[in-house]
Amino acid sequence: MMHCPNCKSKNIGKIGANQYYCWSCFIEMTMSNGSLSLHQVEEDGTLTSLDDLFEAEDLQAEM
Ligand SMILES: [Zn+2]
Repeated sequence: MMHCPNCKSKNIGKIGANQYYCWSCFIEMTMSNGSLSLHQVEEDGTLTSLDDLFEAEDLQAEM
């Protein structure tokens, strides 16, 4: 079971083949090459990358 790198919640929903959504802090996670890419969904629907806020090891997938 994966957890959210941002809030450590396990309240993660799968929204696509390699896409997940954290219902606790409302960020979208995309899995690619074994690591996660995090995006925040803004009110107008645009995505803001959060990757700069995390260290690479925090984004390693823990499946
Ligand atoms: Zn979260």
